[in-house]
Amino acid sequence: MKFEPWPVALKIHELAEVGSSEFKSSEFLKEVLKSNGFSVVDSYLGIPTSFRAEKSVGNGGPTIAFLAEYDALLGIGHACGHNLIASAAVFSAVESTKKIKNGKIVVIGTPDEEGTGEFAGSKILIANKKGFKNIDLVLGSHPSAEWSVGKNSLAVQDVEVVFHGVSAHAAATPEKGKSALDAAILTFMAVDMMRKHFRRDANAVIHGVMREGGQASNVTPDRAVLVYGIRSSDLKYHAKMLERFKKIVKGCAIATDTTYELKFIGPLFTPGKVNRPLANSIRQRLLTRGVKMISVEEAERTIPRGSTDFANVSQVVPALELSFKIAPKDTPWHSQLSLEAAVSEDAKKALVTVIEVLSDTARDFAEDRNFRDSILGDFNRKE
Ligand SMILES: [Zn+2]
Ligand SMILES: [Zn+2]
Repeated sequence: MKFEPWPVALKIHELAEVGSSEFKSSEFLKEVLKSNGFSVVDSYLGIPTSFRAEKSVGNGGPTIAFLAEYDALLGIGHACGHNLIASAAVFSAVESTKKIKNGKIVVIGTPDEEGTGEFAGSKILIANKKGFKNIDLVLGSHPSAEWSVGKNSLAVQDVEVVFHGVSAHAAATPEKGKSALDAAILTFMAVDMMRKHFRRDANAVIHGVMREGGQASNVTPDRAVLVYGIRSSDLKYHAKMLERFKKIVKGCAIATDTTYELKFIGPLFTPGKVNRPLANSIRQRLLTRGVKMISVEEAERTIPRGSTDFANVSQVVPALELSFKIAPKDTPWHSQLSLEAAVSEDAKKALVTVIEVLSDTARDFAEDRNFRDSILGDFNRKE
């Protein structure tokens, strides 16, 4: 059976499976790749909805990998447009095998980018298990409200804190109680106080919720649960923020005579490493196709706001994730509008461009030694 990019994107949109449960989506993508002559390994590195597909052309040459995401958002569906990422990765790979003379083209299925399930941030798990070893270049894409290359992202670590107190009748015997809720509230206030001392140039952000804080007004809460996301563009500063956060939690437990457990949820997302020659060459290809976009320097200066597990990949191998425009500027993401944009006419057109540009880039990387050396040289640069 012959598959085409747009129907594949529509099918993944319709499947709308959330992170770590993308079984049908990954099966479908594997089928598309097999029909194009790729050999497929299921459950790459023990991640059930991951896969690794590859196809060699000619003799020797570099190995180029495309990363496919296909997880949807809980409750709303493909409002981050990962259906397009999946199709772009698979068909960029297929086109690359037609364009290169010598090399190996790989597609890695990287589930749960949104961090919903057991294999949250799977690119990090894959990177930590050396899953990008022997790969010379990684290319990816992500839909957006503008075209860009070179924008960076924030390091993030999610942290859960469970406070344990002692329950008691809140009116009759309050002296016997120890309030876990008090510890949680105190932590919230202390984190707010920490926030005003953040280094501004580190783009430090901390945001949290209280998941549990007691059940009844007449019972001293013996359990309270907080979850925080701690972010910064500076990895060293991020480590300091985590240490300060731990001190706050410890101090608030002492102040309320409670105990606590603090644990990290999911892996540490690092900031990315922008590969300038790669970013500039992709931008040039897009400009010649009439795409309007800011320069790589401007993109690098943009204040990073989100985090992505693609960033960790760019730390271990030359990599680039192309942001492509499928919706009007300033369209809110993870929304009904972005959900519709992911199956719009604009998305259909952009998908064609992304596949052309990424496969042309793969071809030049495989055939042009100077291009390859410039990318590798930039990857090895000292900051
Ligand atoms: Zn996304
Ligand atoms: Zn998203």
